Amino acid sequence: MENGEGKEFLPGYPTIDQFTQTNLKRILGVTKISNDLPGEKREDYDFYSTFPEFRKTMTSQGKKLKEMIKVQLGFQGIRTSVPTSEIEALVELLTDANDTILERINISLDEAAGIKRDIDPTLLAISEKNISKVAGSWNNFDRRKKNEETTEVKLLAAKNVLRPQMKFKKFIDNTGTPFCPRLTEKPHSKKPLSVLVEYDDTNTEYFSHPYLFEIERMVPEGEMLTASEVSMPKSVDFTELVYVQNSKELSNMIKELKTEPVIGVDLEGHTYRSYQGITCLLQLSTLTKDYLVDPFDIWEEMTQLNEIFANPNIVKVLHGCQQDVLWLQRDFSVYLVNVFDTHQAGKILGFPRLSLAWLLEKYCKVYADKQYQLADWRIRPLPEVMVYYARQDTRYLIYIYHLLKKELLDKGNEQKNLLVSAYQQSNMVCSSRYNKPVCNPDSHENLLKKTKAVYNNRQLFALQELFSWRDAKARMEDESTAYILPNHMMLKIASELPREMQGILACCNPIPPLVKQNLTELHMIILKARNKALLTVDTDLMLNPQQDNATDTAQMDYNDNPLKCPLDLSNMMDYGSGLTTLINTKTDKPSTKWQSSVNKNLLKTIPDLGIFAKKPIKSASKQKHTFVSPFERYRLLVPYLEQLKVTDTPQPAKEDDATAAATENATAAPSDNKEDNHLESIKKHFQHLTDMTPRPKKVVESASESSEDEDGVEILDEPVKPKQKGGKRKLEGEEIKEEGGGGNSSVWAERQEIAKKNKKLQAEIDKEVEKRKLAIENKLVQEEITKKKSKKRKSEQLGDDDTPSKIPKEKFEDLGQGAGVESGSEEEVDEAFDYSKVDFNSMFAVEKPDASKDFNPGQKWEKKNQKLIVSKRFRNRKK
Ligand code: AMP
Ligand code: MN
Ligand code: ZN
Repeated sequence: MENGEGKEFLPGYPTIDQFTQTNLKRILGVTKISNDLPGEKREDYDFYSTFPEFRKTMTSQGKKLKEMIKVQLGFQGIRTSVPTSEIEALVELLTDANDTILERINISLDEAAGIKRDIDPTLLAISEKNISKVAGSWNNFDRRKKNEETTEVKLLAAKNVLRPQMKFKKFIDNTGTPFCPRLTEKPHSKKPLSVLVEYDDTNTEYFSHPYLFEIERMVPEGEMLTASEVSMPKSVDFTELVYVQNSKELSNMIKELKTEPVIGVDLEGHTYRSYQGITCLLQLSTLTKDYLVDPFDIWEEMTQLNEIFANPNIVKVLHGCQQDVLWLQRDFSVYLVNVFDTHQAGKILGFPRLSLAWLLEKYCKVYADKQYQLADWRIRPLPEVMVYYARQDTRYLIYIYHLLKKELLDKGNEQKNLLVSAYQQSNMVCSSRYNKPVCNPDSHENLLKKTKAVYNNRQLFALQELFSWRDAKARMEDESTAYILPNHMMLKIASELPREMQGILACCNPIPPLVKQNLTELHMIILKARNKALLTVDTDLMLNPQQDNATDTAQMDYNDNPLKCPLDLSNMMDYGSGLTTLINTKTDKPSTKWQSSVNKNLLKTIPDLGIFAKKPIKSASKQKHTFVSPFERYRLLVPYLEQLKVTDTPQPAKEDDATAAATENATAAPSDNKEDNHLESIKKHFQHLTDMTPRPKKVVESASESSEDEDGVEILDEPVKPKQKGGKRKLEGEEIKEEGGGGNSSVWAERQEIAKKNKKLQAEIDKEVEKRKLAIENKLVQEEITKKKSKKRKSEQLGDDDTPSKIPKEKFEDLGQGAGVESGSEEEVDEAFDYSKVDFNSMFAVEKPDASKDFNPGQKWEKKNQKLIVSKRFRNRKK
């Protein structure tokens, strides 16, 4: 409604976009230069270090940088000492500081998006203090005496305010039926009253606007188009107030206003303790009088106001009337014909600010205190300060109208185009129609979009159910959805899916009364969601927040989409002398590189086939993959296949992780490679094999997994899901619990036997794998050298840190590339890609939304892990 516009974002930068554009370029420049420096992990660093001049320069620049960091941190109010020597500690510090800043941004963005806005009118408790101070002396409002008797005016709504709806219950219809105007007469009609059913583009029924015909034919004429001299009206303190709260007072007011050429109009409303919102007060001002209409007792009669409001001969001056137009329709079936919206006029005149407060300041030298805008307007009797505020809102509107009219005439042409346009724009707003809120099955998606969180199917289901539960409750109780369950609490419940009722309550602070009352219903929703088979690919989100899983996803995304590496700048620059190779940056055992190219899509939490089960690995950080040759795999499968032929209808099964590793590696290797071809054929074979592999129906659960599965995670129903780090591998020989008459014991014995054999084979296979990998790597290195193209990856905390750790499932699957498991291993993979194809523009486009996603309040732990990754990676690089 009322916007503040026209201020520069920062000196020299009119908009935030310009600021970011300019500085992004600068940052890129700096990054480019720093990449050209002989870095610690470049082989030439040692060489350069032998020159004292080089060392001196590096030291002095380093000092400068630390100074700058100190200043920046100080400016951000982050109190910490900048470490002097430890680079690692410095990086950690910067990561922390960035986190803090990003967190702040995130909170502010959430608030701006309305996700976390504190809708509970506790704000009113604060304004309570000001009541005595601001009270005006003008008041002839006869409730004033009573008011003074009341020692304390309680502005806190929830506890003390009677629900006014009780008085006009029959006019509140929160059902899904389209809104229908209730007017039975149509004053000032050019076309007889008819409210017709119509259909919009989506074939949704609605009732026509009863005054649309009149609004469209409204032509400004006479006084409306000529400048008139008016003097500044008397202030609220010296103006008569008429309080309208019964039928008689209403008709008297209408009689008085009928003859006015111009009136100022405003509405105050309340939306927190009502589903659709209710109008609580109407303010009308002539040049000499203020009227305050309390509609609660005359709700039905209010329709009579059409006599004034739909009268084309009376100019109604409002400021930013969009909301008022709809509220009048919704509550009273009152329609506005012939409106002058000062906000619209200000827009046409190109004012730097468009708020009423600004106009009041500009034209009337009145400094309005807008703190009561959000006050609880249901309070009766109205506190004096609120009465004063309400009157001030309309007191000067007529005067401002005349000044604006003059200005529009002065600046317009002979056709008075600007003024005519102001009327047209205003009446266009009046032709909008009120519609009831609609709750669709996908209504929750908008909310989710705002949070930028990625939910798995369980969370999504919960959110959807909670959303519709909340909407239904709100309609039933005639409360706002925010009162039933605020967005941020709903999102928290949906993302955490607490198993216990207590957990649901723990997501809410303070606990909304209707949540407490309907806890069982909510609990049922959550249980239903938790019982859903998990379809998401993102284990990091859901299953094991304690682990350093963020590593996987961060890396995975990075590897999945090398062309969108957020901070690789190779397309923009020539690399100088440093030549990065696969070998000299590598610090991990070769096996970790192998893992990093594993496609997580092909991995599962628990293998379906016991023969391939391995010991669960306690440590989350290291896990070795084993390779099973296709033939071996097939051979091992034969007995099992035969066993199943007898019992089950075959179902497609997922690939074992070890084989998946092999398969995926094949795809990740360069295409013109001999080994690659070989691996490719293995892959094909496996794909074929996998299609034929039946899948056991029953859940086989090992005792060691129980702790991880206690969350009610169903494993077997999961479609392809990324492997979870550290554990969940089945251990051969370990005690297996069988569920639902599942495993056949002879099969099990056989599997164990085979598994033993398999183990022996693995050692050999591992060797073979290492050999092949080294060959591939060497070839890559060779290629790189011959191309004389040194490829360098950019500073990791910028790049990797912001790499989204949660990506939408579709994206994940589309990309389907190798996914890293070990931290530190991504470098190698990443450097094998051709960065000259990186689309620089898109890389920031991708990064932007995801950065904030990482700071989703619902997934705090993840952020922490991101931090860990950075330092971990940094350490790896140092080696
Ligand atoms: P106004 O047009 O400024 O008199 O505002 C009319 C009504 O709109 C107020 O009584 C509030 O109920 C509502 N309102 C105005 N501004 C806001 C806001 N920023 N947020 C929520 N409600 C508002
Ligand atoms: Mn208003
Ligand atoms: Zn107002």
